[in-house]
Amino acid sequence: MKVLKFGGSSVGNAENIEKVVEIVVKAIESNFCVVVLSAMQATTDALIDVGKSAERGDDNFRAKIKEIENRHLAATRALLAENTSDGVFDFIENRINELKSICEGVYLLRELSPRTLDRILSFGEILSTKIFAAKLNSLKIENVWKDARGLVRTDSNFNSAAVDFARTNAQIKEYFRGSNAKLHVTQGFIASDANNITTTLGRGGSDYTGAILAAALDAKVLEIWTDVSGMMTADPRVVRNVRRIQRISYREAMELSHFGAKVIYPPTIQPVLQKSIPISIKNTFAPDDFGTLIETETSVEKDIIRGITSIDRISVLSLEGSGMVGIPGFSKRLFDALSKAKINVILITQSSSEHSICAAIEERFAETAKAAVDGEFQYEIEVGRIEPLRVENGFSILALVGDNMKAHTGVSGKMFAALGSQGINIHAIAQGSSERNISTIIASNDVSKAVNSLHEEFFSDGNRQINVFIVGVGTVGKKLLAQLFQQSEFLRENLRLNVRVIGLANSKRVLFDEEGIDLNGFESQLANRGAEQSSTSAAIADLIVEKNLRNSIFVDVTANAEVVETYPKLLQKAVSVVACNKIAASSKYEKYRKLKDTAREYNANFLFETNVGAGLPIINTLNDLMQSGDKINRIEAVLSGTLNFVFNNYDGSRSFSTTVRQAQTEGYTEPDPRLDLSGTDVARKILILAREAGYKLEMSDIENEGFLPESCLEGSVEDFYNEMEKHESYFRQLLDAARKQNLSLKYIATFDDGKASVGLQSIDAAHNFANLSGKDNAVLFYTNRYADFPLVVKGAGAGADVTAAGVFADIIRAAKI
Ligand code: ADP
Ligand code: ASP
Ligand code: MG
Repeated sequence: MKVLKFGGSSVGNAENIEKVVEIVVKAIESNFCVVVLSAMQATTDALIDVGKSAERGDDNFRAKIKEIENRHLAATRALLAENTSDGVFDFIENRINELKSICEGVYLLRELSPRTLDRILSFGEILSTKIFAAKLNSLKIENVWKDARGLVRTDSNFNSAAVDFARTNAQIKEYFRGSNAKLHVTQGFIASDANNITTTLGRGGSDYTGAILAAALDAKVLEIWTDVSGMMTADPRVVRNVRRIQRISYREAMELSHFGAKVIYPPTIQPVLQKSIPISIKNTFAPDDFGTLIETETSVEKDIIRGITSIDRISVLSLEGSGMVGIPGFSKRLFDALSKAKINVILITQSSSEHSICAAIEERFAETAKAAVDGEFQYEIEVGRIEPLRVENGFSILALVGDNMKAHTGVSGKMFAALGSQGINIHAIAQGSSERNISTIIASNDVSKAVNSLHEEFFSDGNRQINVFIVGVGTVGKKLLAQLFQQSEFLRENLRLNVRVIGLANSKRVLFDEEGIDLNGFESQLANRGAEQSSTSAAIADLIVEKNLRNSIFVDVTANAEVVETYPKLLQKAVSVVACNKIAASSKYEKYRKLKDTAREYNANFLFETNVGAGLPIINTLNDLMQSGDKINRIEAVLSGTLNFVFNNYDGSRSFSTTVRQAQTEGYTEPDPRLDLSGTDVARKILILAREAGYKLEMSDIENEGFLPESCLEGSVEDFYNEMEKHESYFRQLLDAARKQNLSLKYIATFDDGKASVGLQSIDAAHNFANLSGKDNAVLFYTNRYADFPLVVKGAGAGADVTAAGVFADIIRAAKI
């Protein structure tokens, strides 16, 4: 004999009910069966709404009843022809009339007692089972419809009644002894008390009814038919790549369901566990899937962690005070007070200092808890021995569950490291001595990120999803997106990184798509789907923080000072920042330092390799030298692709101004070329290198011997070109003077013993920098280890492609924290 329970979605409409019929028909081929049904999907919620509306005096309750009636009539019509309906239409009409009468009473009295609410809720299951039974009858499938209120006996704790097992088991046995029908249909969730008044078993309680029947009848299996193919490693609505759990122990299943896995109602397991009746969770919409088997032994699967769950809307109660230390009885009184107020405590922690006790309860009981506990400790609070109860809302409990956890060390370490790396603050921790469950309390808006990170940590086979937001879709930004698109397969296969660009913004528009923007054609998507950027980059940062996705990386490919202001906020949320923008690292020392410290404090990365020498590994080389204990004594560098290009190409055949313009057209210059020509950009770069080498320098400390006539730096960019044209003879003179001595011109940055300078120099053919061509950059590091001959990094130091590649490399570095 089997008990089959079908949930709300399985009987949600006529089409689904047909599927249930098929499953049941198959089951009775070889078994006696009891079918337990929930109300049609969303009906219980709708009935609660009807009751509450009537209680408020809201006339709409009548229209809402009509909707419920229509839904049931529509399903019945689709399932049954009028002549085969077996009086079910009359049945529906009569029940709906009863419901109306009760609700009119509630409406008149403006009073909805828990007892009346249970009566109202019972109509959901009564109607669904009657319609189902009528459908079976129309197909000539013999069955007996039984009112569950004659089977399941409870106390009178309406809305969440406790089962009287002795009476219930006796009633069930007696009833079934007197019936030899092969198929019974009954309701889940509803029961009655000793006075035959309708009660309910708590939301989701149909599963429990199934278990009660299965245990009383010694069924060989309890099948829970729902809309997912079994119990998953996490809530499939929160995590996309959940895995199905094939087999799970009763205890693990109990922990998972207690801590939020809605697929099975927690009390369900107890009755069947005692009789070792397995529970099989099956999918009505994919009946051939194996589903999940809940049983005593789970020798097959040896995962350490079985699943991750969470419960929302939690309040944290803290009772604190020095008057508690060493005095027995405080916790007893605290929990007695909560128990008397009928408040269930979900989690408890107390540190060994005994200075505070912390308990988690459902948020809806917070006010009652506060009144009850402050009442209990009124005297102690008055004399200052303890503080009034502190109640904090907006929390969730996150739990990691697995029988095998106890045999493995390091699980909690891994858990907390994963949460910490995402900037998730842990408010409290509890682990039972059974070591089957580690629970933490975290802010509710961190739950999705936390569950996903932990799932990735414990179940993902090493694949990690990286969420990238790119601001600035100019020349470099576009190249970067093209490279990301081209490399995505490689990253997935070789680095196990699934890099998703979830946001794009330029100065006008912002596009956000949590599922990942299709990089093939991002420009039209940004233009068509992107929202007009009404506000600032601050709004974008707010959006990223609000979305709170794991492994987030913010990429700044602008030259905008406003964007930099968002970095601290992002880093504090463990969002790594990859900056092509040089403003942050070359701003005031304090600001640069603060950003680096914030990144470290919140386990985020703040990377800006492309600030110096575009894609060349200059900052990373410097960091590696420093980290391995070397000391940077001197740096000599050609750091401006633009200036190098200009002085390499300026040979007198064309004007200096024309040569600079060519550098800009070819994309080597900063958006404003004066930043290059004035030496400011080079000064910023040597400043950044000096800082990374451990020196506390400001921009004003860099000696900058400018070579441009002052008038060139006034007015607009066009004025700048015109003015240079006017001074052609001056530039020519610089060139000729160098040539006369067989020297060439190079713009060189030097850092020596704590001092930095930038300026135009004439160098001979033997100089390290003599053979730099095109847009090359070169950096010579003189260190304790590289004392006589410097470590040299050299190569193209400008251009969109190499810069984008450098940003790309930083993204990958940030992803692999
Ligand atoms: P029914 O109406 O059939 O009783 P429920 O809605 O009560 O169905 O439970 C099934 C739902 O539970 C699934 O659709 C899924 O969204 C949710 N759920 C939450 N956690 C889990 C989990 N760990 N495994 C499977 N489903 C889960
Ligand atoms: N219909 C009830 C509810 O929605 C019981 C159940 O579906 O299990 O809570
Ligand atoms: Mg359910």
